[in-house]
Amino acid sequence: MKFYSTNGQSRNVSLEEVVMTGLAPDGGLFLPERFPVIPRAFFNNMGEMTVRDIAYVVANTMLGEDIDSAELREIVNDTFTFDIPLRHIHDNVYSLELYHGPTLAFKDVGARFLARIISHYSKKMTGEINVLVATSGDSGGAVASGFHKVPGVNVYVLYPERVLSAMQKHQFVSLGDNIHPIEVLGNFDDCQRIAKEAFNDLDLRARMHLTSANSINVCRMIPQMFYYFYGYADLLRQNPDVHDVVVAVPSGNLGNLTAGLSAKIMGLPIKRFVAANNRNDVFTQYLATGSFTPRQSVRTLACAMDVGNPSNFSRILEMYHHDHTAMCADINGYTLTDREIADTMVDVHSIHNYLLDPHGATAYKALEMDLRDGETGIFLETAHPSKFAKTMREVTGVEFPEPKTATPQRIHPNEIQRISPSHAALKKILLNAT
Ligand SMILES: *Cc1c(COP(=O)(O)O)cnc(C)c1O
Repeated sequence: MKFYSTNGQSRNVSLEEVVMTGLAPDGGLFLPERFPVIPRAFFNNMGEMTVRDIAYVVANTMLGEDIDSAELREIVNDTFTFDIPLRHIHDNVYSLELYHGPTLAFKDVGARFLARIISHYSKKMTGEINVLVATSGDSGGAVASGFHKVPGVNVYVLYPERVLSAMQKHQFVSLGDNIHPIEVLGNFDDCQRIAKEAFNDLDLRARMHLTSANSINVCRMIPQMFYYFYGYADLLRQNPDVHDVVVAVPSGNLGNLTAGLSAKIMGLPIKRFVAANNRNDVFTQYLATGSFTPRQSVRTLACAMDVGNPSNFSRILEMYHHDHTAMCADINGYTLTDREIADTMVDVHSIHNYLLDPHGATAYKALEMDLRDGETGIFLETAHPSKFAKTMREVTGVEFPEPKTATPQRIHPNEIQRISPSHAALKKILLNAT
């Protein structure tokens, strides 16, 4: 499989180059030249398959020319060391629980797969590879956990000051070794911007090998397709007559939604998607008006989706050939206020005895508003509620004990690098480290 850049100014490149560079040299995002379609017969048998089996078939269809099948099988098996249960909540509504991985958020799937693909290619490289990731909360922990102690790889985690929950931050500042936290005196958009500036700095890239572990790296996006297939398979297993399936995705940078849309292009019969935004609703506004207007993000309860300039938008635009009407036929967008998110958490807990985290609650509510008679809805539960212990206590009154994952912090708080939100400051740290 070859990949092309959404900006159209770079030559098409191999999987290896895509994985090892992250962003295309012209500043665009990579997309596969084509999405191979999975044969119909697969969908008849998938009800009996495990998440690893399904992931392997999809991965092999996409990447089989590039990575030998035994190795791909192993990468997939090492990625899915946890289950992804589809829970029936009530009537025609199901929750796909993506938070049973080591850092309790769906980002474990993409990060674990990417880490294994990078180490597959880094074996034949000389020198170290430097992985840069900007996090709004959950990517940092997932990427750090996926790469911790991987030889030859350094990870730099850029995170905004004051935004992350205690557990989110602990998951990457506690590790030490090859994981380097960098606190940015700004918001997530600043982190994302300076990371992008680093990738576009040719001088820097000539001096060190740099790649991205954000969803701009196509190998974080590809594995996220697997669980759409698996969730659909599990739905059929539980309910063989089901049809007209709608999937609601709590959206920030739109990586997860891009993966769902890709799965649909590859033949997964999802009727439509629901994009659930918090008040940072640049994408929902685009669906409503046809104009894409990034703006400063504001803080909300669903903080991992506080994104003012969603990076994967250009991929979605490209996948729909810049056709706004066609996109709107497949995706309905909703904006939820903090009040609505909190009310949903309280109501679903008291009525259905199911605890939603703020992100899952955003998707649940959007799905509820969108579902029609005869349809079946799946919403993605992207993080375990315990990751947001303070919010959960304040909104629902439910207490979570100190996280079991807590390990002694190996980096003294004073050792964390703190920088102003500028490219120059980041560049200095990166170059000093090598
Ligand atoms: C990152 C994140 C999201 C948003 O996913 P995108 O792929 O950026 O749209 C939603 N929920 C949680 C818990 C997250 O960590």
